[in-house]
Amino acid sequence: MDVLAERILLDLRNTFKKDPLIDEFDVLPVHESVSNKCPVIHVEHKIALEDWCVKHVYVYAYSKFFTWRKKPYKIDSECFLTWTSAILLINPEIETVWNARKEFVCQNLLLPENELKFSELVLSRKPKSFPVYAHRKWVLFQWFKGKCSPCSLQQVVDHELRLCTRGANLYPNNYYAWCHRTWLMKELCHNCLKIVSEELTSMECWTSAHVSDHCGFNYRQFLLSCYSREDLNIMPCPLHASGGENCSGKKTVLFASLLQQEISFLCNLQAAYLGHETLWYHRRFILHEIHRMNVSKSADSEDAGSCKRHKWDKGEEWDIRQEENFLIENLQRARDGSWERTLMERHIKWLKNVVCWPLSLSLG
Ligand SMILES: [Zn+2]
Repeated sequence: MDVLAERILLDLRNTFKKDPLIDEFDVLPVHESVSNKCPVIHVEHKIALEDWCVKHVYVYAYSKFFTWRKKPYKIDSECFLTWTSAILLINPEIETVWNARKEFVCQNLLLPENELKFSELVLSRKPKSFPVYAHRKWVLFQWFKGKCSPCSLQQVVDHELRLCTRGANLYPNNYYAWCHRTWLMKELCHNCLKIVSEELTSMECWTSAHVSDHCGFNYRQFLLSCYSREDLNIMPCPLHASGGENCSGKKTVLFASLLQQEISFLCNLQAAYLGHETLWYHRRFILHEIHRMNVSKSADSEDAGSCKRHKWDKGEEWDIRQEENFLIENLQRARDGSWERTLMERHIKWLKNVVCWPLSLSLG
């Protein structure tokens, strides 16, 4: 069996060498070996292993790697790469193996670019694996340690955003993909409002098409909250450091207007999609922010120095009356005894108990 596993690993290694553009890995449900047929399938930059050989390959590579790891001896990096790649493609949860690869990056035996490519390949099959995103973050940090131009940083950010969207499309509520996206905004983009505002706009389409994906809506909440912070960064972000671009985005956009836009966007979604708890949670987030703003406004009502971003423009304030109108309209859409009705009842309770809005409407 060892000879067979060794041969399959060699096939894998040669295929990767032959085609540097491989961007997808999978396991094919072929449960029996056909004599003399290679179980490594390579078609149009996609690579796969037949199911019957996966266990043999994994056990072999695993024991080779851990024997070496316990009592290191000199091996060539090709050999190391072959074992660790096979293990991680099949099971990316083993952090010891990722850590060994990190050590190789630090010793310049592995290129960070190739690590990014490899971990992306792993994500193509396991888009919800935390250790892969953690490894990517580490590699990105190594790569950027103070020597990256804004232009190449922009390319990386764009690439990472696409990767996160792919992960979110492949797996609903893909918490780790969304955390990676949030991390990008915070750590690589320093919450630059120009980028945050572009994200808010570009993700509208995605969230509209995934109304029960609470991770997607959580991410919107994170983006919105970037605008509510008082300690906004006045330094240019790393992406706009050398250009004349304005990091504060549409500086004229007030937090209040943004919340107003968001609630209109949400009202349309809720009218079209009934019975989605995620949408009601998002509504509570927005209303809670509005409530908080109003409380702080009344606290320093005559304070001319209070932050302008937190004030309503005339006539745009979302108030009890507007909320009630929405609920009455929604009541006509939701049938008696439906899940949407239950969600509405909970929402009304929340409005009365948490933000203490004196609604006259009652469903009970
Ligand atoms: Zn910026």
